[in-house]
Amino acid sequence: MKAEEANLKDGGDCVIMGGGPAGLTAAFELEKFGGKSITLEAESDVGGISKTCEYKGYRFDLGGHRFFSKVEYVKELWLEILGDEFLKRPRLSRIHYRGHMFDYPLRPANALFGLGPFEAVRILFSYAKAQLTPHKQEDNFEQWVSNRFGKRLYQIFFKTYTEKVWGIPCSELSAQWAAQRIKNLDLKRAVLNAFFGERGEGNQKVTTLIEVFHYPRYGPGQMWQSCTSKLREKGHQVHLNSRVTKINHNGEAVTSVTINGGTDTEQVVEGKQFLSTLPIKELFRIMDPAPPKEILEIASGLRYRDFMIVALIIEEEELFPDNWIYIHSADVTVGRVQNFKNWSPDMVPDQKNTALGMEYFLQAGDDLWNTADDELVAMARRECAQLKLANIDKIVDGTVIRVPKAYPVYSPTHGSEMARLREWLGKLDNLQLIGRNGQHHYNNQDHSMMTGVLAARNINGEANDIWSVNVDEEYHEEKRDLGGFPANKS
Ligand SMILES: Cc1cc2nc3c(=O)[nH]c(=O)nc-3n(C[C@H](O)[C@H](O)[C@H](O)COP(=O)(O)OP(=O)(O)OC[C@H]3O[C@@H](n4cnc5c(N)ncnc54)[C@H](O)[C@@H]3O)c2cc1C
Repeated sequence: MKAEEANLKDGGDCVIMGGGPAGLTAAFELEKFGGKSITLEAESDVGGISKTCEYKGYRFDLGGHRFFSKVEYVKELWLEILGDEFLKRPRLSRIHYRGHMFDYPLRPANALFGLGPFEAVRILFSYAKAQLTPHKQEDNFEQWVSNRFGKRLYQIFFKTYTEKVWGIPCSELSAQWAAQRIKNLDLKRAVLNAFFGERGEGNQKVTTLIEVFHYPRYGPGQMWQSCTSKLREKGHQVHLNSRVTKINHNGEAVTSVTINGGTDTEQVVEGKQFLSTLPIKELFRIMDPAPPKEILEIASGLRYRDFMIVALIIEEEELFPDNWIYIHSADVTVGRVQNFKNWSPDMVPDQKNTALGMEYFLQAGDDLWNTADDELVAMARRECAQLKLANIDKIVDGTVIRVPKAYPVYSPTHGSEMARLREWLGKLDNLQLIGRNGQHHYNNQDHSMMTGVLAARNINGEANDIWSVNVDEEYHEEKRDLGGFPANKS
């Protein structure tokens, strides 16, 4: 429905800014206790970063969205929304390095043997050196990882991919981040196990390489389109092409928001309660009246990492068995390759063909971002062939999707900055911030969804702290992860 056709004045109790997983889940939860909502989505489709894009009948996920959660309520919601269309799929992912494939999550024995005896000896010596003369300071990612695994293993399996994703040297990433991401890998024990086998009952078993995960038949966007249909059936409004351009407040509460329906016609949407999934940076920029200068400066300093996927169509029935492959080789720009047909066969319209997603991590406005689409497709074809993932002659078509603000980046002063922003927002007692960029929180869908659920319940009289939602304490992949790369979050 176009914004100008919307019945915005009596839309409901709650105005939700953004129709991604957080916003739509909040609306879905509101419905459960009789609340009504208007969701305002800037784009022409729902789903946010978790939408499915389509090109000539081929469907592309912006990344690869595994539906995995340890929160029962989230799993129930997914099933309630999608039912039989929520497929159970086998998972395989590996690391591509110097023309060889290595298990992911990384298994040290597989890595040591796969790299050959010369490299294995180098790794072991470098590990021994790190044990004897570790970095005295463990301030950054590089020092933290090198101290535990040795410099050589760090260089091969941590440095390149991590730097591709974040775009800064590992020496500038915090050690705390490494400690949070990389858990339970013990190289010494892994090597002993490789030679002498698993010993003792207390030994943790390595997580099995092939797991099962859930995925909507037509990609993640199907979940959010189905959610939207269900909401509309129950009288909730979800408006597309409705960008929020102003958040009007009186210093104590938000009174309304202004939207631009893309036709230069502005409309004012009133409500009693407001939920925002907008990037915090944008939220503060469009507050009217504007917040104090100091607050605006903090908000405008928030940083993001952007993302681009070059989708390729290949005239081959089958290319490789993985759902996705991490590309650690430094001689190509691509960071990860998705094989969408292995996520769900229905992602491709013709089973004789395959569709790959070449993922690039970059900054909006940089040279790669500004490169013309046909050149990007040509580059992705070349890199795909160079990695021997497909024959270049069989790659017949491609398209480019740019995703700004895909990853919120934490600055060293993240905690104090967020505290200051939240303190100011605390004055507006009918506004809650939810979701990934809404809270500037590097998350998965389940976190976004739970912030939406709890915010909706707050509207119904509960007093949940939506900023302390923690859904991934025991994310299974972290149990035996040698990541160095976004392990469970991407
Ligand atoms: C490469 C990649 C891979 C990922 N893989 C996984 C995975 O495997 N599993 C998983 O669970 N999660 C994964 N995620 C994370 C997942 O995409 C996010 O957690 C989720 O989409 C966040 O939902 P959200 O609603 O909080 O935000 P978003 O998805 O960002 O939605 C926000 C919405 O607000 C809209 N909006 C913005 N500004 C305005 C405005 N001014 N007015 C109106 N609307 C506006 C946007 O258009 C968007 O639709 C991945 C993310 C990336 C980048």
